Amino acid sequence: MEKQFSGQNQKKLGLSQFVQAIEASRTLAITTKVTELRRQGKTIIDLGAGEPDFPTPAPVCDAGIQAIRNGKTKYTHNAGILELREKIAAFVNKYGGQYQPEQILVSAGAKQSIFNALLAVCDPDDEVLVISPYWTSYPQQVKMARATPVFLQASERDHYKVTAEQLSKAITPKTKLLMFNSPSNPTGATYTKDELAAIADVVAQHDIYLLSDEIYMQLVYDGLEPVSMAMFPQIRSQLILVNGLSKSHAMTGWRVGYLAAELPIVKAAAKVQSHSTSNITSISQYAAVAAFELAETELQKMRTTFAERRDFVTQRLRSMPGVSLSLPQGAFYVYPNFSQYFGKKYQQKTLNAALDIADFLIDAAGVAVVPGEAFGSNENIRISYANSMENLAIAMDQIEVALKKLQ
Ligand code: PMP
Ligand code: GLU
Repeated sequence: MEKQFSGQNQKKLGLSQFVQAIEASRTLAITTKVTELRRQGKTIIDLGAGEPDFPTPAPVCDAGIQAIRNGKTKYTHNAGILELREKIAAFVNKYGGQYQPEQILVSAGAKQSIFNALLAVCDPDDEVLVISPYWTSYPQQVKMARATPVFLQASERDHYKVTAEQLSKAITPKTKLLMFNSPSNPTGATYTKDELAAIADVVAQHDIYLLSDEIYMQLVYDGLEPVSMAMFPQIRSQLILVNGLSKSHAMTGWRVGYLAAELPIVKAAAKVQSHSTSNITSISQYAAVAAFELAETELQKMRTTFAERRDFVTQRLRSMPGVSLSLPQGAFYVYPNFSQYFGKKYQQKTLNAALDIADFLIDAAGVAVVPGEAFGSNENIRISYANSMENLAIAMDQIEVALKKLQ
């Protein structure tokens, strides 16, 4: 008789308890949904995906092609080619770091960097403080590292930033690590240098790690300068710095992320990687070297465009009755609160949560967004403005019209 796959953990042929305890990525799920709806012939404007709409800059693509032509298609050093780690070290040191190339581990996106870091430092009884709203993968990755996520709430009133005092109160003897992300996905909240310094001071007073996810560091607006946790010497031994090229250089598909930390942590994270993915694609590494050589003006162009779009989208949303939002100063997301629409009806269905709002917007406005439940809040939706001005204008018009239909 053919063996049955039960899908339950109590049978031998079933899924692990481990995998049943985690959720698939809700942000990636939106991209899958959009692809499916488009396949069915629907016209959808995708403001869900968190990736720049710009093409990867030509010199970066050329370097990748050249790498293939030059036969750079073999395994590389587990941690990444030295040339790239030198570029990365120079970059993080420009923002206050003091890292040697040995202290850099290149991974398949910042996502893998964070995962490697968590596996390198977390034990089963450890708690990881996650500031909420959070990027969807943080709590799931913490669980995958067999640690426990503990949430620290940042409110809309405080522009989704936590204060040093809040943080101080939230740290317990079980806290192993603080997950920190500025500019933030999903809120766009961007800490000033002084605010970062205050957080760093609290971290320095405790035996905890600080994982600073700086993937949106260069995407800041309103005259703000990029700032990094690397600039605070008091936390040097506690800091695990994560960054990557996906967002700043429109290189999401190349999968280039990295981690910088004290040597024992880097070695431990590299050990994890040595048994999972080895090195990242050799071709991407050569392209990444070229990315670090791009003129600052190339990046500035993208930043200016993002800033214009942010202004446009926030103005349009603010002009819609019942929508409130905190002005994001970094990344490419707006996180408006739609709870004023709870209780209203669309086609007999009462809207009670962000998930309902997102379903309603895709259905009635043809606009895909990510519901706040993916980020730990059920009153907001995340709108990515990494899309053309033309599409953003149509999307805002369609959302406005759709909202008026609600009863
Ligand atoms: N951190 C944050 C906050 C993100 O938004 C993303 C984007 N998905 C990542 C890390 C990972 O990006 P990547 O793996 O493409 O480098
Ligand atoms: N970080 C992006 C997002 O939040 C890309 C998708 C993902 O990796 O989660 O949408």
